Amino acid sequence: MSLLYAVVSVLIVAGLVKWRSQTLQNRNEELEKLVKERAATVISQNKKLEAINRELKLAKDAAEAATQAKSEFLANMSHEIRTPMNGILGMTELLIDTNLSKEQKEYTKTIRNSAETMLYVINEILDFSKIEAGKIELECIEFNLNQTMESVIDLLGHSAFSKGLELSLFIPADIPEYLKGDPARLKQIITNLVNNAIKFTSQGEVLVEVAKISESNNPLELKFSVKDTGIGIPQESLKRLFKSFSQVDTSTTRQYGGTGLGLAISKNFVEMMGGTVGVESEEGKGSHFWFTTVFEALPNQPDLPMATIDALAQQRILIVDDIATSRRILYEQLKSFRCELDEAENGRVALEKLRKAHSNNHPFTIALLDYMMPELDGKELAKHIKADPNLRGIYLVMITASGNQGDAREMKAAGFDAYLGKPVMRHALISTLLAILGNPVSSDDDHRPLITQYTISESSKNEYRILLAEDNRVNQKVAVRTLEKMGYHVDVVENGKDAVEALRKKNYHAVLMDCQMPVMDGYQATEMIRNTESGVKNPNIAIIAMTANAMKGDREKCLEAGMDDYVSKPFRRKDLTDVLQRYLQSGD
Ligand code: ADP
Repeated sequence: MSLLYAVVSVLIVAGLVKWRSQTLQNRNEELEKLVKERAATVISQNKKLEAINRELKLAKDAAEAATQAKSEFLANMSHEIRTPMNGILGMTELLIDTNLSKEQKEYTKTIRNSAETMLYVINEILDFSKIEAGKIELECIEFNLNQTMESVIDLLGHSAFSKGLELSLFIPADIPEYLKGDPARLKQIITNLVNNAIKFTSQGEVLVEVAKISESNNPLELKFSVKDTGIGIPQESLKRLFKSFSQVDTSTTRQYGGTGLGLAISKNFVEMMGGTVGVESEEGKGSHFWFTTVFEALPNQPDLPMATIDALAQQRILIVDDIATSRRILYEQLKSFRCELDEAENGRVALEKLRKAHSNNHPFTIALLDYMMPELDGKELAKHIKADPNLRGIYLVMITASGNQGDAREMKAAGFDAYLGKPVMRHALISTLLAILGNPVSSDDDHRPLITQYTISESSKNEYRILLAEDNRVNQKVAVRTLEKMGYHVDVVENGKDAVEALRKKNYHAVLMDCQMPVMDGYQATEMIRNTESGVKNPNIAIIAMTANAMKGDREKCLEAGMDDYVSKPFRRKDLTDVLQRYLQSGD
């Protein structure tokens, strides 16, 4: 019985084991099937992914090629537009200086203004597309902050004063002048803000101020402000101002032109410079646009020549102007020279101070007189001073916003030794003061020349010979006439090969080099000139690129090729004067 039980049990167990192994095998098969199915799915999905990847790569390549094509197109367009614009602007500038009737002069000025506006719009559109394509990179070069700021004010001063607006620049003396950063972009932001301030202001003033925020000079954080007394901006519009294509007045009847891109572009540049932008405004009262930037101050700030400091240190100067900001600006500009300074807010106070100083045996030596003052204007005040035998020896400098050539005789008759146009630039002020101090007051007043910014820049000019390498006939003409008018001698060649040849034969002081030229371009020519074995008379000659290429990297390309500087076309006469003066004075 128990045997039977055992056999049955064994059979049952064996059956169970068999059944179990059968089930396991089934499961295994199912699993294998499942794995196979999954593997097949993964493989097919992988294949799909690979196909998608291939498509994506193709799309990415196509997009990159499109961006590349777009930026090449932009570079070409920029070049193609700038070349004729250089002809239009340059020729108009030359035309204005010829003998034209009043009517013709008006028409010519309108052409010039329209061309400049057009160039401005083209530049904004180009910049905007470059930003969109991520094609903008900042430069990091050494530059002079004061000169950069002054060049903007200088350029826009005329449009402010022709609207009867005061335009002033205030840079405290404690801000280092020599910095490292991107001066061209800084200039562009300031130009945009000041342009807007002038455009949206019909009376009052535009004040540009720089302030130091950081304690240290490295990094040096600065705040730039542009304040106006114009139409202001409604609160609800303030937020969208920095967005592209945004304008407060979007009606078709709007009074002010513009693309609505300027502030968006500026914001982008500011952020690239590690700063922020902002605006405060009140409708009907005015606006205050500001931005911060981070620069690096050069460790050695070049000192002013000792002779300049010495010459001005002994002077006692009275600043006479009814506008406090204007007095403050002159004060700051002169402060670092250790001269003794005082201020007067009108002609009456000025006369009192001058007389009192004389009777105290501590007389003033120089008086800076604003022209437009209520009651006693600058000219009247000068007459009073010259009529007083005790005060007659004081040097008088007229500061005026309406600097017409014809004024010179009148100023001299009124007793002035010099006159300076507003806004007063520090270097012009200093050179003027040095020039009058070297030009002592004599009894023979009639033979003393009146010193103006014009005479100062003329006196620093010499007999320089310049080689111009340029293939475009119109632009050759523009450059030659402009340079000759500036008093330089010019020889022209049409390509880089001829430029090298000319430099082998003759001594020049500088080369203005177009980049794209037939036979041999400007880059190759520069490389040859710099090579000591090229046989040119001076391999270190100043080479300035003068080109319609104004896209990212073009400047670097010129400098890498061995050129010293870069002027982009269309250039203004002033751009050329500035760059040439830089090299011709420091050279030879
Ligand atoms: P644009 O001046 O070319 O239209 P911007 O981006 O420079 O473009 O300016 C955008 C808008 O911001 C202007 O159209 C104007 O409505 C407003 N705006 C800018 N600056 C001032 C200002 N100083 N005063 C009043 N409104 C201003």
